[in-house]
Amino acid sequence: MEASTCKQDLLQKKKNAVLVDGVILNGPITDSKAGGKFVEEACKIIMEEIIQKADDVTEKLASSLLVYPMYPSLVNRDQHSVERASSHVHSVTACFSSIFSDHPRFFNQLYAGIDYYSLVARFITEALNPSVYTYEVSPVFLLVEEAVIKKMIEFIGWEEGDGIFNPGGSVSNMYAMNLARYKFCPEIKEKGLSGLPRLVLFTSEECHYSMKKAASFLGIGTENVYFVKTDESFKSVSRRGKMIPEELEKQVQRARNEGSAPFLVCATAGTTVLGAFDPLDKIADICEKHDLWLHVDASWGGSALISRKHCRLLHGIQRADSVAWNPHKMLLAGIQCCALLVKDNSDLLKKCYSAKAAYLFQQDKFYDVSYDTGDKSIQCSRRPDAFKFWLMWKALGTTGLEERVNRALALARYLVEEIKKREGFQLLLEPEYANVCFWYIPPSLRKMENGPEFWQKLHQVSVT
Ligand SMILES: *Cc1c(COP(=O)(O)O)cnc(C)c1O
Repeated sequence: MEASTCKQDLLQKKKNAVLVDGVILNGPITDSKAGGKFVEEACKIIMEEIIQKADDVTEKLASSLLVYPMYPSLVNRDQHSVERASSHVHSVTACFSSIFSDHPRFFNQLYAGIDYYSLVARFITEALNPSVYTYEVSPVFLLVEEAVIKKMIEFIGWEEGDGIFNPGGSVSNMYAMNLARYKFCPEIKEKGLSGLPRLVLFTSEECHYSMKKAASFLGIGTENVYFVKTDESFKSVSRRGKMIPEELEKQVQRARNEGSAPFLVCATAGTTVLGAFDPLDKIADICEKHDLWLHVDASWGGSALISRKHCRLLHGIQRADSVAWNPHKMLLAGIQCCALLVKDNSDLLKKCYSAKAAYLFQQDKFYDVSYDTGDKSIQCSRRPDAFKFWLMWKALGTTGLEERVNRALALARYLVEEIKKREGFQLLLEPEYANVCFWYIPPSLRKMENGPEFWQKLHQVSVT
């Protein structure tokens, strides 16, 4: 329908219409009836085309061919009317389902399958559209976040602490780095970097790349990230990829001798590629000796804390000052669901990040304003990511989550045994966690001697 006829129709129907600048002001901004119909149809299609197909192994993993012919209709403004909107539902879902990340044959980083509870939690929060900055806007979601953080802290083994859900483990690492620096020199918040000594932090060679990103983003500089050697023997399965504590000690000494200021060690619990767990107890000893903040990036490995069988992998984590943990990885909470947890109980997060915006965080509200946790964040609007984890946890219980972890590690053991049985597969290392690293050696290379030429050829195989 043409916009002008539409308006005239409305004006005729609405005797008391308030017209300003040719715009009718009284009445809803959206057509709720047509909108409701659109949502209903879309839900039906999401159910049939995505959720029911996602875990069906006989369905195709990708329907990306559908995307391209449909794409113009999604961006073509002329087809923007509400009446036609429902006819676009199919093309929209075709795009969304172009890759079924929940498909049983979808093997990629980060994903482990679908969790229906966290999916419904997402539907609920998408519909309510809350923002967890103030209690008045999101009372329930703020309390949920507090409860989930408390529970995660229990699993780490701290008696108390604080935390915040962030858009990703990378961001949690950045928060931790900044928090450690703030603790080291609180005046940085007002004075900035000028006048500070050269700050240095330590992490292992196998750490996540977000460490470099955080160091550059925060003005620390990537050259001031000192990479500590990991235990290794590249060609043997004894390689582990864990930080060597003695090497850390040497690096701290080196930094001190250079006259720079060491302030932070970032250990990794579950490295992204090899799945290695740094020896936290020994690293914590060094941190205590040199008075350094210990951050544990357990974005990947943190979920093992839920398993009584595997939590020993993170032995010593209770000695950390901060921990990053992503329930959106092994535990299957929908992306993104990532927490930074902090042992400090002196409101350090708030002191470090607050800007005390008077229009949002008024101090004379009708409720306890300590529930307005928004000023602990670098964000203003923030999604209630903890709710996904909460609903899933409520539905499955700790034992249900524990089963997920145990199953993932059992699957890894099974894969290792299958690799060992098969000709042409070479295991890189005996896994401790769910990462299984192996080479596939094609028949043409199986008789070749292990030397530079062999590795060059093998690399060519893996990239084509
Ligand atoms: C996945 C991962 C991250 C990054 O988490 P995102 O949520 O993807 O930003 C950080 N550290 C480790 C060890 C990881 O495995």
